[in-house]
Amino acid sequence: MKYDYIIVGAGIGGLSAGLNLAFNDKKVLILEKNSLPGGFVTTFKRGRFEFDASLYDLLDYGNEEHIGSMQRLFKKYNLEIETLPIPYNVKIKSIDDKFEEVLKGEIDDWVLRLEELYSGSMSTFRSLLPVLKEVHEALVVLKKGRNVEKDFPNFTKYLDKNAYEALVDLNIPDATIHVLGYLWIEIGSPLNKLSFIDFAECLYKYIFKRPVALKNKNIDFSLKLAKRFEELGGKIHYRAKVKEISLENNPKVTLEDGTTYEAKEIICNLSERYVLKNLLKESYPLANQKENARTISMNGLVVYLGLNKPYQDLKLYNYRYYEFQNLNSAVNLKSMKKFSHHTIEGIVPNIVNEYASPKNTTILVLKTLYSSNCWNTVNKTNYYETKEALANELIEEFENAFHVDIKEYIEEIEIATPFTMARYTNSVNGCMFGPMRLGYDNSIHRLISYEDEQIPHLSFVGASSIFGSGVDNAFYSGYYITEKLLEKERKEN
Ligand SMILES: Cc1cc2nc3c(=O)[nH]c(=O)nc-3n(C[C@H](O)[C@H](O)[C@H](O)COP(=O)(O)OP(=O)(O)OC[C@H]3O[C@@H](n4cnc5c(N)ncnc54)[C@H](O)[C@@H]3O)c2cc1C
Repeated sequence: MKYDYIIVGAGIGGLSAGLNLAFNDKKVLILEKNSLPGGFVTTFKRGRFEFDASLYDLLDYGNEEHIGSMQRLFKKYNLEIETLPIPYNVKIKSIDDKFEEVLKGEIDDWVLRLEELYSGSMSTFRSLLPVLKEVHEALVVLKKGRNVEKDFPNFTKYLDKNAYEALVDLNIPDATIHVLGYLWIEIGSPLNKLSFIDFAECLYKYIFKRPVALKNKNIDFSLKLAKRFEELGGKIHYRAKVKEISLENNPKVTLEDGTTYEAKEIICNLSERYVLKNLLKESYPLANQKENARTISMNGLVVYLGLNKPYQDLKLYNYRYYEFQNLNSAVNLKSMKKFSHHTIEGIVPNIVNEYASPKNTTILVLKTLYSSNCWNTVNKTNYYETKEALANELIEEFENAFHVDIKEYIEEIEIATPFTMARYTNSVNGCMFGPMRLGYDNSIHRLISYEDEQIPHLSFVGASSIFGSGVDNAFYSGYYITEKLLEKERKEN
């Protein structure tokens, strides 16, 4: 049977692509190597705890008041999810800067606190807000394929600037830049390289669209998307690992067991580098060159802890914790080359969701990132001892940094390394973010050059695609890329 579209991978980008195509009555097959949909957005059980692997802040969904583009698409597909508001409540610490603060309350409270800390930051920060709006509106126009040069002067002015340069140009004091810039760690590129447009869009979503958490587990979210896709007529084959893609003559994919499927178009919910290197039969030298010029972002170690005490007794009062070696992201990135834990992220889902774990227990998820391939020095003889030693150090460092006792309350522990992530999703080096969104390779450049750089009959969705990582971007890429393909089909017909 020939399909209109075959999608390789049922991650969020692949499911989103499938939803839009099936919604438009296309014959679609998703091939997924795992037994469950969702890729990174999954859940696993250890003892009485159910741990969500990745999705804790959902951006661009919004709430009833601030509807995000993801919520709009959910309404269109008749999909409903329950969400919970996330308080702006972040504890940030930096070792070198001797900085320790809880930023809490509404954005206005943050602004007031930053003014107390760094006099003069208030008015400049307020003047940044309309620039964020302008960038967002320009992006909306650009995504519709229209020109933005005339109506959006700030967008054009800052298009090729990195986030640091642009914020300095906007007169934001240096210290304020570095405190607010903590978000770089969620985007995966340091401020002095990260495109201002990508940073501004992320900040816009945080401030104006309000991040939310899922009321149910990550896997329920992914299963819901998969179910709706199937209700719309799409098919998913699980345990179907694609080992080859061929585009000559009739585009087709071949599974490990030798089964072959044909389609008019193939969409990959995988890293472009992985596909070009491992799956694509024919070679496309220009695509290879372009892909090799990109910088793959960081990988990391994640420690999932089930603690047998309520979070109040553990004094874990914040939803998110960050400890940096240095608030300056460029300096910090250098310190992340080695197996040290000077960048720690902690998240306590129970602060937002009373059902995150059984009564009187707490889940704490700790993460540290690496900006080099230091994990390549680990082999099968020292893998287990290395990951256990690093997890122990990470827990101790978190305890010391935030003056809490965790160790003696650990009931369950699971450690995910870059190898775990690479094996589960096939991400390059276990990278959690896809390629960095740098000046020469930001989402605007990717958006503008998309059609010129495309390999015929092959498209990419997900974290490695145009808009970068994060569930919001992965989901939007699935919609955007399939809209382009549907438009092309309409023109050809
Ligand atoms: C610890 C952690 C915390 C995170 N927290 C957040 C957060 O709070 N908010 C947020 O928005 N984002 C978060 N993210 C990022 C987010 O989870 C990812 O950016 C997003 O889920 C990526 O989706 P994707 O569409 O690129 O697909 P992926 O999740 O990469 O899925 C790809 C799919 O393709 C399948 N596949 C791969 N190779 C093959 C093959 N050969 N054949 C068939 N199938 C194949 C895989 O099995 C997988 O299902 C976090 C990530 C991590 C690791």
